[in-house]
Amino acid sequence: MNLVLMGLPGAGKGTQAEKIVEHYDIPHISTGDMFRAAIKEGTQLGLKAKSFMDQGELVPDEVTIGIVRERLNKQDCENGFLLDGFPRTVAQAEALESILEDLNKRIDYVINIDVDQSILMERLTGRRICKDCGATYHLVFNPPAQEGGCDKCGGELYQRADDNAETVSTRLSVNVKQSKPLLDFYQEKGYLRNINGNQDINIVFDDVRKLLGGVKQ
Ligand SMILES: [Zn+2]
Repeated sequence: MNLVLMGLPGAGKGTQAEKIVEHYDIPHISTGDMFRAAIKEGTQLGLKAKSFMDQGELVPDEVTIGIVRERLNKQDCENGFLLDGFPRTVAQAEALESILEDLNKRIDYVINIDVDQSILMERLTGRRICKDCGATYHLVFNPPAQEGGCDKCGGELYQRADDNAETVSTRLSVNVKQSKPLLDFYQEKGYLRNINGNQDINIVFDDVRKLLGGVKQ
């Protein structure tokens, strides 16, 4: 089962990725892990990627795509894989199509965890952190017993600048804009399946399982 997982920040992609790879026994291939592994193994492409990362530069597409090709060619991808964080652009998606063609594979589904913007805002702006002990809370999912105070030490809770409504809203808009062409690409290919992510994580996973079938393949 060859899958690509997509979803905006706060959509719960990480949680669903964990459940999918466990249930279907396929490797979770995230861009970060893939880079780290290639660097650790000291492959030529890994070292190339490292030289860009060490200079704080983006790893160019040709290197990233080469690393994806090496990764998908490994034994553990024989029965499938879950790609997460790649592809990010239509150019990368086209490269992925040609890699898979060479390996005699194809994508079964592109799963997009679809969550309303207002819910994403609520999830992403709700985090509060204790000034004194660093304990983290969430106004909706893990609220402190007393508003504004830490349960553990009574310290004052604050919101990180990254979590404020304006920053989050900008980040979401950028992500929506970037992912739109990719979603359109996969829609046209017929791979795209939208899963309603506005629900409890277990119900979201039930929907994923209904799509993929409950049995390992
Ligand atoms: Zn505290």
